[in-house]
Parts: sequence; C-alpha cells; structure tokens
Amino acid sequence: MRGAVIHAPGDVRFESLEDPKLLHPTDAIIRTAVTCVCGSDLWPYRGAEPIGDPHPMGHEYVGFVEEVGSEVTAVKPGQFVVGSFATSDNTCPNCKNGFQSNCLHREFMSTCQAEYVRIPNAQGTLVATDDVPGEELWPGLLAVSDVMGTGWWAADAAEVKPGSTAVVVGDGAVGLCAVIAAKEMGAARIIAMSRHKSRQQLARQFGATDIVTERGDEGVERIKELTGGIGADSVLECVGTAQSMAQALHSARPGGNVGFVGVPHDVALDGQELFFSHVGLRGGPAPVRRYLPDLIDRVLNRRIDPGKVFDLTLPLDQVAEGYQAMDERRAIKTLLTP
Ligand SMILES: [Zn+2]
Repeated sequence: MRGAVIHAPGDVRFESLEDPKLLHPTDAIIRTAVTCVCGSDLWPYRGAEPIGDPHPMGHEYVGFVEEVGSEVTAVKPGQFVVGSFATSDNTCPNCKNGFQSNCLHREFMSTCQAEYVRIPNAQGTLVATDDVPGEELWPGLLAVSDVMGTGWWAADAAEVKPGSTAVVVGDGAVGLCAVIAAKEMGAARIIAMSRHKSRQQLARQFGATDIVTERGDEGVERIKELTGGIGADSVLECVGTAQSMAQALHSARPGGNVGFVGVPHDVALDGQELFFSHVGLRGGPAPVRRYLPDLIDRVLNRRIDPGKVFDLTLPLDQVAEGYQAMDERRAIKTLLTP
C-alpha cells in the first residue's frame, strides 16, 4: 500500500509502505475511506517537534473494516467505522470513567494518512454505522474522529451551559468545531476570536454571535467589554501557545471555566494568578470515544456539519501539498481521498 511519510520539517512524501497486518487478536485492519491532515501534524512539519527517523503520519480516519482479530466481535468486515485518534479498550477503569483517551491500554494512532490502517484495541475503539453512509457525510464523520470530538471536549471541559457565554480562542478546525459544540450545548452567546475573513464566516455559520479580532491584552479587553466587565462563563482554548492560554485564562470570569484542548507548547502557568482568579481549568486529549455515538448521530441526522472545516480536498498522493497549504494557511484543513 501507499501512504504519507515525514522525513524532515517541510518534507512529507507519498511512499510505498508495508501493508498493515493484524498483530494482536484485538486489532482490526481498515481500508481508509477518507483521512486528513491535522493542525497538530504541523508541529513536526514546522520543526517545532523532533521528527527522528522518517515515519508515517496521520491519526484521523473513517473506513471500511477489512479484517478483524479473533477477539474483535463489535465490528465485522465490510462495515463503515469511525474511531478516535486515541484507541481504547473501553473496559478499563479510566474508560469506564469516561476518559477513554487515558485508557490503560491506550495507543495513539499515527499511521492514518495511508490506504490501509491497523487499529489497535478495535473492539473498544471502533463504532460502526448501521449502513454505509452517503459519501457526502464522510467528511463530517471524519471530523468526529478528532477535531469535532476535540471541540466537543473543549466545550464539555469548559462546562458550557444553556444560556451561557462562551469564548472560543483559535479559529483552526478544532476552534470552529468548538463553536458548533458550544451552540449544541446551548450557549446563548458565542464569541469567536479570529482574524481571518473566511474562518470568521464559517464560525458565524456554525453559530458564533460575535467575532473578536484583537489578540493578547487587547483581545481580553474586548471580551471584558462584551461581558459586562467580568469575562466569559466558559472559554474554549483551541491553540496551545503561551499567548492563547494567557488569553483564555484572562477571558474567563471569576468562577468561569477554561477547557484547553490545544496541545500546550511552551505554556507555563502562574500558580498564584490561577489561585486568585477562581478560574477552573481542565484539558487534555479529548475522550472522543465517549462522544462517538452521539456525535455520529448528529452528523447522520444532519444536525451538525463539521465536515465544512475541510476547505481543500486532494487525492491522498498529493498529501505533501495538503500539508503545505495548511502550513501557509491557504487551507483550514485538508481532506485526503485514497
Ligand atoms: Zn481503557
């Protein structure tokens, strides 16, 4: 089969790879229906994370089951399945507590920008749809496997409630999906922080009521102006830089909550400041598996359409261009079709 391999910053190639095989009785092999490039793939692509030896890339996937191990009974060959970027057995204590992305047997997916993928912990990880969904729904279901699930977690962790005010920091695919989540959870006011016209438009389509273009202290000032001087009930941090985290913490009201889902890079917290702010803080890799059945339903019922975050579609063999377009911010998110 063929798939994407990263060799060095800025150097992603489409290469021949060994076909994945069942390694454990709990594995499944899927044939990729669609996959994509994640904002977090840009960290190594931009040299912000070490790459080491050349290795495959990708952790978002929907596909058709090809083969299952002897202990996998939840899905069968031919079925269309959605999973999570973090695999889980769905039976250990952490899974039972709803934190499947901290499963005691967790393995992070990392080879999904390819024609076939091995899914560890397939029994607990994969959710099959009743029928094969129409192709127009595949992008939305793909989004559920990571960015939509992560946006949902941001809103959940920030405790968005009906009638509340939510601020979304970050206008990448996760931030835009976080707007969808805040809307679905009933936020009355959703303030999206974005400087980019096309992203602002999509945020508004998804339910944002206000757009703030300022950043840093000016951005915080603007949020305060819009929230009676005290800050927002919930802030959804979807970037992971020191600046975005500071902006998020300073935008929450005393007693408000920040959900942080951007993987932190060089973020340090000031304990005293946090103490006196009365702001609640929770983050981490999204427990996407907890949300899968619900989010799959919302997409299949066409209640939400997170597939709109894909504004560039390329054949999988042009994966290098997919990375470059996102790196240069020509695309929000690249969909790849094998
Ligand atoms: Zn588990």
